[in-house]
Amino acid sequence: MTALSNIIIKQIERFGPMPVSEFMTLCLLHPEHGYYTNRDALGASGDFTTAPEISQMFGEMIGLSVAQTWLDQGMPTPFVLAELGPGNGTLMADILRATKSVPNFHVAMQLHLIEASSQMKQRQEAALKGYEVTWQNYFTDLPQLPLFLVANEFFDCLPIKQYRRTSKGWQEQMIGVENSKLHFMLGTATSAEAFASTIDAPKGDMVEISSSSAAFSLAIGQHINTNGGCAIIIDYGEWDSNGDSLQALKNHTKVDPLSNCGEADLTAHVSFKDLTNSANAVAHVSETISQGVFLERLGITQRAQKLSKKMAGSTLEKHIAAHKRLTHPNEMGKLFKAIAIVPRGLELPAGFN
Ligand code: SAH
Repeated sequence: MTALSNIIIKQIERFGPMPVSEFMTLCLLHPEHGYYTNRDALGASGDFTTAPEISQMFGEMIGLSVAQTWLDQGMPTPFVLAELGPGNGTLMADILRATKSVPNFHVAMQLHLIEASSQMKQRQEAALKGYEVTWQNYFTDLPQLPLFLVANEFFDCLPIKQYRRTSKGWQEQMIGVENSKLHFMLGTATSAEAFASTIDAPKGDMVEISSSSAAFSLAIGQHINTNGGCAIIIDYGEWDSNGDSLQALKNHTKVDPLSNCGEADLTAHVSFKDLTNSANAVAHVSETISQGVFLERLGITQRAQKLSKKMAGSTLEKHIAAHKRLTHPNEMGKLFKAIAIVPRGLELPAGFN
């Protein structure tokens, strides 16, 4: 049992069963024992690998799409370039390298990173040496300026609630304690009104709702529609939330979410329908497209071929494998998806049309 399991057990003994959303928040961001507070999470030596850690080409493609949108919107000056949950800072470092030669882009830019973990902030600081960076704890603290925002694998770690359809109606999945161990259990029946769109779900089905993701998406849409700019959001998930997707990863392997509190990454599939509907109420949202299609449209294959000319042996093999991993439908190409948000009436970023 981990130190954090004991804390969670005590909390449940005091206040009763805990929703999955609260469990996720404690596991990931507990100020002392949280996963992102303590761990060297990302990359080959960590617990999971993300697209920017696989190849520099991922950030380069996104950087060019963002800079093109900035040009299309008339080069607003000053503007904010921001990232939600930047991890090791690799994606932003690649975006900055790729946009260095875009005239005035870096001169007009104010760089902001939204990050909840101080450990992660230190990594980002090291990766972005030489740049003036402002860290924000909250999205809503960003200055009211045109905003060019990226978020990769950020929404999947935002808290979800899970509900199961039973003979009593919809019951929230909770975490309780039995024989001094954490276990999943069902809470009391909830009003069916919240589940109008899933009214036909067969008994036994589970739905996941992330009000946190919806709130972020709405705030991003409002900011961008008012101030200009664009958001590019990439994550793993489906159009519609479907079944139990809570997943814990440690050393690149799936583990039991309840036995590794604070020691494994905890995520859930992102519902692109929910992200889209929230932002669409206040801004213009693209169709949801697959990561493979997005990167191909931006020219990742031509970029890969150009980079490969200077490579040989195992470096070349690794490079080819990285291109395949990012784009192939059987790897990250299809499971990972992308959407863009722009002000109403404006063009979508390159790669989305
Ligand atoms: N985008 C990076 C890392 C993804 S891991 C990449 O693609 O490699 C998720 C990141 O989001 C971590 O840096 C984590 O500390 C941060 N994070 C998680 N929840 C957060 C929240 N509510 N607010 C701000 N940052 C958060």
